[in-house]
Amino acid sequence: MALETTLREPIHLTDPLEAEAPQPVRGCDMCESRFGQWREASNPRSTAYDPSHATDLAIEIKRHPHEWKKTAR
Ligand SMILES: [Zn+2]
Repeated sequence: MALETTLREPIHLTDPLEAEAPQPVRGCDMCESRFGQWREASNPRSTAYDPSHATDLAIEIKRHPHEWKKTAR
């Protein structure tokens, strides 16, 4: 009566974002702090090295809305 799941292999999503450095928006504290965390998380020599977290941070930076940017001249 073993209930086996067919999905036993770990899923590795190779996200192209991972290799790409996020571009924080200048003057945005949120982006800059996330970028600092991203650099730590994407640095294999850092104690905070965490590639999947780095990907999350990169996505967060890219998706961070900056409505005020449109009105800036
Ligand atoms: Zn931002």
